[in-house]
Amino acid sequence: MIPISGRTRLCALIGSPVAHSLSPALHNAAFEALGLDIRYLAFDIARGSVDAAIEAVRTFGVVGLSVTMPHKFEVAEAVDRLTPQAVSLRSCNTVFRDAQDPSVLWGDSTDGDGFVSALMGIGVACAGLRAVVVGAGGAGRAVVEALGRNGAADIAVINRDANRAESAAQLAPQARVATWADIADAGLVVNATNLGMQPGDPFPIDPNLLQPAQVVADLIYHPASTPLLTAAQARGCLTMNGLPMLLNQAAIQFRHWTGLDAPVGTMRAAVADYLRPPTHR
Ligand code: NAP
Repeated sequence: MIPISGRTRLCALIGSPVAHSLSPALHNAAFEALGLDIRYLAFDIARGSVDAAIEAVRTFGVVGLSVTMPHKFEVAEAVDRLTPQAVSLRSCNTVFRDAQDPSVLWGDSTDGDGFVSALMGIGVACAGLRAVVVGAGGAGRAVVEALGRNGAADIAVINRDANRAESAAQLAPQARVATWADIADAGLVVNATNLGMQPGDPFPIDPNLLQPAQVVADLIYHPASTPLLTAAQARGCLTMNGLPMLLNQAAIQFRHWTGLDAPVGTMRAAVADYLRPPTHR
């Protein structure tokens, strides 16, 4: 690792809470692997402090930011320019400097493209896909927007809060509010709810509705296999957990900040190490 010196640059995460974020582990591992003199720190920033944080990015010459809740919406208001997906979502999880004019700060939302890249990694193309997305929070919205932008034929949105389902369905012309019956015709079924993270959580989707050969994606990466994914495998579905999405969205951030392809294998190993129980490290 390059020792910290007067030349060391900073990337950071802002949000609240941030203490359990995987981002410092995976980005610091990536900077080290490529011999970059950059460190990544997490800052717990209070609500109402976003303008000051963005001003600090400008003042201190911070290379870029990851942004997590509750600041994703305010950061989208505070930066100079937004990528099309950040405009659609009115939210960003990444701040980076313009390549031509580094004084200009861009905001991007990398979750949706991270999900689409993850699908491609298991051989699933979005074009013409019929998808059901269960969950319409920040992650579900990003998935709906990205599936739409990448040519899915039909995006059926199901969510406990009907208003949020309606709002997510407006993010793509192919999207609509749906019912559980829509799962039968889907090629891809996505869990974008929190259900499956905690032991004893109910299933987000009745596994009996799943058909063999469907692709079932769960955005949760810890645990590595949720009860939904285990049940989907037993029914003959191709499954994907949230880890490839996490890594691919981080790789997009890394490219924004450095102009380089991220060492995704190094990032994956850093995450595995971080998630391993302490006694196994
Ligand atoms: P969020 O904005 O808080 O949204 C939570 C979603 O879960 C909402 O649709 C919510 O429904 C639903 N939900 C929560 N509890 C529920 C319950 N008891 N019954 C039914 N629905 C319930 O959170 P988020 O940021 O979208 O994250 C959602 C999941 O995606 C989390 O598990 C998170 O870890 C994962 N995620 C993964 C990645 C990745 O890179 N793999 C990235 C981001 C998020 P209501 O709208 O009705 O409340």
